[in-house]
Amino acid sequence: MTHEKSLLKGGVNPPDDRSISRIPCIANALVPPCAVIPLLQHAGSPAQCIVKAGDVVREGMLIGRAEGHSSANVHASIPGVVTATPEITLPGGLISTAVVIELGGEFDRSGRREKIHEWEKLSAQDLLARIRSAGVVGLGGGGVPAHLKLSPGAAVPLLVANGVESEPSLSADYALLRERTRQIAEALRICGALIKPGRIVLALRDDSRDLVPEIESVFRDCGLECAIALVPSRYPRGHEQLVLSLLDGRSAASVVMNVATLNAIWDAVVLEKPLIDRVLTIVGGPVARPRNLKVRIGTRIGDLFDECGGLSTEPGKVIVGGPMRGVAIGSLDTPVTKWTTGIMAFSSAESRIRREWACVRCGICIEACPWGLVPARLHKLIRMGDIEAARREGLSRCTGCGCCAFACPSHIPLASIFTSGGALPPAGEVTR
Ligand code: SF4
Ligand code: SF4
Repeated sequence: MTHEKSLLKGGVNPPDDRSISRIPCIANALVPPCAVIPLLQHAGSPAQCIVKAGDVVREGMLIGRAEGHSSANVHASIPGVVTATPEITLPGGLISTAVVIELGGEFDRSGRREKIHEWEKLSAQDLLARIRSAGVVGLGGGGVPAHLKLSPGAAVPLLVANGVESEPSLSADYALLRERTRQIAEALRICGALIKPGRIVLALRDDSRDLVPEIESVFRDCGLECAIALVPSRYPRGHEQLVLSLLDGRSAASVVMNVATLNAIWDAVVLEKPLIDRVLTIVGGPVARPRNLKVRIGTRIGDLFDECGGLSTEPGKVIVGGPMRGVAIGSLDTPVTKWTTGIMAFSSAESRIRREWACVRCGICIEACPWGLVPARLHKLIRMGDIEAARREGLSRCTGCGCCAFACPSHIPLASIFTSGGALPPAGEVTR
């Protein structure tokens, strides 16, 4: 059964070119000659490095062991020889040890027939062990290890498959829903067997309604009882808490799984395949042939632009993620990680820093904030140096979604001010 869900307050409609989502088939990116695999690609502590320079590793071999509660295993995405384990800086400034592997030797999985494992007779413990061992984490950008969300505990009223990809111009989740429908449905059955939810709902953007007939048919075939909810295509409707609000599932016990995470759960349980690749969108004005590619973790971002026909002009800015919450990177050597949902290149004109003007008290930022905050007020308090008062007025509830900054006619970089803990960026700089 398909339901349409009405608007919550707030949100914005940035330019959203999803034309590449119509390009059929997710292509496999070339195997990189070298993979740089960070040991911090999840919400908790970095995985512990268990290899050293000179070690020979096989495709899918464990190279970083989960260390602590919210940590996750990390595996070799290519076979070869470990040449170094340096410290690298990840997008957003996190520092992580990385394992550098030079390609060599045979592939254990790629190009071979995949063995399908029956999962229905496995115990909950064994299902969770496969998901945990494969290093599956939230691929929507959260990075929380999937087995933590799926551990049996309190009754779960609602399980949501989140296919609401609200960052403009990204369409990897749409492509997965179109091409991996059966795997996603089966993964929902696996999750259902683990947490026994009261109901299951797939949430989709309303402009993805063309997928609904095929999805409903696959759900019927798989014997999966799952309603489909169409959510307005308005940023940031894909945020977990907003999706739950729209579906009346605000209980803390409800579970939300991104569709890319569900696809990885299927790989982990049915193929016993560790998480060594992911599907992501490569897009932006200078990109000659924007595409959705399945990319091995650790692939250099510059190599992916080459695979998309190169860049027509020197980009003014490259970001990892979408245009609203993405993080600018300083080097095309930055590797793809488990939480890279997309890569965007902007021309110099598109990246031009806009001059910041004084607040004109128009109130547009208040209308734009989906969380009911008063961004202009928070900004004023921060400018006055009263961070404590800003906190009392909800600064800590700010998700950094960027709606207020996008809407502000004075180009005040509200979101980056709020997410940098109240530290003001240089005057006149807009770093949306
Ligand atoms: S960045 Fe923060 S204050 Fe601005 S709209 Fe988003 S949640 Fe509201
Ligand atoms: S949108 Fe900008 S100019 Fe308008 S009230 Fe908010 S901060 Fe001030």
